[in-house]
Amino acid sequence: MKASFKLFRIAGIDIGIHYTWLFIFAFFSWTLAQTYFPAYYTWSATAYWITGVIASLLIFVSVLLHELAHSLVANARGIPVHSITLFILGGVSNMEEEPQKPAAEFAMAIVGPGTSLLLAAIFWGLTRLPGDKTVPVAAIISYMAYINLLLGAFNLLPGFPLDGGRVLRSIIWGSTGSLSRATDIAGRIGQIFGWGFIGVGVYFLVQGDIFNGLWLAFIGWFLNSSADASRKEITLRERLSHFKVRELINPNIETIRPETTVSEMVMNVFRRQPGRAVPVCRDDKLVGIVTITDVKKIPQEQWGSTTVERIMTASPLYTVSPEDNLNTAMQLIAHHDINQVLIKENDKCAGLLSRADIIRFIQMSHELGVPKTIG
Ligand SMILES: [Zn+2]
Repeated sequence: MKASFKLFRIAGIDIGIHYTWLFIFAFFSWTLAQTYFPAYYTWSATAYWITGVIASLLIFVSVLLHELAHSLVANARGIPVHSITLFILGGVSNMEEEPQKPAAEFAMAIVGPGTSLLLAAIFWGLTRLPGDKTVPVAAIISYMAYINLLLGAFNLLPGFPLDGGRVLRSIIWGSTGSLSRATDIAGRIGQIFGWGFIGVGVYFLVQGDIFNGLWLAFIGWFLNSSADASRKEITLRERLSHFKVRELINPNIETIRPETTVSEMVMNVFRRQPGRAVPVCRDDKLVGIVTITDVKKIPQEQWGSTTVERIMTASPLYTVSPEDNLNTAMQLIAHHDINQVLIKENDKCAGLLSRADIIRFIQMSHELGVPKTIG
């Protein structure tokens, strides 16, 4: 998520907001100041606005605490989270990987709505204290009890990718042992909730309530499409896990020696083969990788006098073995945001596997209906 900026850092986690949040913030402040608070309380216009802005800031804090709870439990369970981005429909904890065990997913998912419900209980407790219930402070407290209750309850709906859907997925995953089956079921339920929200939204629209109708329909559309995307992603992963890297190795792969000059490499390798990267090997032993991007950093007049060794990446080298499955390779590529991994067999260069190779393979096997295992 690029369209966001960093605000501050808590417990080693960068907190950022997506630009859309600024609109949401303005929109909440406006709605609260112009319609919500005036419907229940009689204050001055300034008091409505100040209360609206403070309440919107506290919504932000509530969402942040919910996300922070997810992230802290993830970190404690060994799943690194380095940043949280707050955006239009709440927040996203940017996990580096998905949980590997159902118990970890369960704990991570449940703690978010748990925090929201705890906050709702605390604010509700505060509303029971004696005092004037018509002043802005009391109004904010009761509004926060309501918002956190809503945040907790909505996220507990058992449809993936909502927290409740993750809880459900972890339970099915734990009892069947199959992550893809669990994601499929929880995702389908998520899609049903999505359609439900869209349906209720359309009903509101027909009744003339344009605002709530559009809002509900939008939430429904978002839930439906993300549930669908999650199901497809897990199906793809499952499919890729049936194939070994070995099946995609190109037997005629070009490799290059570190002492080759850049101009020789451009002439003999990059001009003649389609890929954007080439493994660098010394006596069959893998020592690095060089890409077209590395070449671009060197002015053309220096190509003749620069060796590949000087511009190649020697570490970190992301490698897979021919016996690894394609899902492992794809996860490695995705997690490190790289375009290819090196294939290494007993320290030797066995080739290169790019994102494009995997995509081409998926398309080909889709068109030809390649059986689950070859050879
Ligand atoms: Zn959550």
